[in-house]
Amino acid sequence: MASRKPKAKPVSRQSVRHQSHSHPLRVFKAKEDDETVCSGCELELTGQAFKCTKSDCDYLLHKSCFDLPGETHHKSHKDHPLTLLYSPPDDESFYTCNACDQYGSGFTYHCSNCKYNLHVGCASLPETIEREDHEHPLTLLYCTSCKGREDTTFICSACEETVLEDLWVYYCRECDYGTHVYSCAAYEDQESNEEEEEEEEEGEASTSPASRIKSLMKAQDEMAAMQLEARIMNDANEAALDLWDQPKRRYYW
Ligand SMILES: [Zn+2]
Ligand SMILES: [Zn+2]
Ligand SMILES: [Zn+2]
Ligand SMILES: [Zn+2]
Ligand SMILES: [Zn+2]
Ligand SMILES: [Zn+2]
Repeated sequence: MASRKPKAKPVSRQSVRHQSHSHPLRVFKAKEDDETVCSGCELELTGQAFKCTKSDCDYLLHKSCFDLPGETHHKSHKDHPLTLLYSPPDDESFYTCNACDQYGSGFTYHCSNCKYNLHVGCASLPETIEREDHEHPLTLLYCTSCKGREDTTFICSACEETVLEDLWVYYCRECDYGTHVYSCAAYEDQESNEEEEEEEEEGEASTSPASRIKSLMKAQDEMAAMQLEARIMNDANEAALDLWDQPKRRYYW
């Protein structure tokens, strides 16, 4: 007679599968001070989420990233649908986002025809945002207002750096005022922070576009730094050469 195997421990919480990951995931409620990052969008993990059931695996997904459609039609890329990839295309360790010019190493909305990539976070940027220091709402443009004009280049009104004509900007036509989509879009001055503390009961502070964008920056910057470190360690020579071609990331807070 075959000896009986010990019974597997009963699963206390339901696990679910997601195509992006080989292990089962379970429901996870992220706390704000956990400072964890979603493995899909690479943004700070808050609210409803999923976590890998393996204790030694840090795979985490926002519920919203778990539920992302496998294909999307995006206004920025009208000719082709974009396909959700769970890792950078062409076996690369990262891609460059066509919206913001920053790296991504998690999910991307991708067009293989055009080698077009969007961070899933950039693909869902709000079409208008409000800035503390500008009286009008700013509208998301999928290229700068200077595209195709040889006589002018677009200068970010926040950091005063040139924005390449194919990158996205937040723009006010009336004032010809515009900024990079996120590294410069999230302006909050001291005064507004104080106001936010007072308004915290309304629960809006942590979900404003500005704070989302801030979180996007922070998380992606850390991620980019880690990737660069990893690349340098893995392949010192190649990485060193590559670095010169990569867009540099700068902040002006
Ligand atoms: Zn996410
Ligand atoms: Zn795992
Ligand atoms: Zn992006
Ligand atoms: Zn395309
Ligand atoms: Zn800028
Ligand atoms: Zn304006």
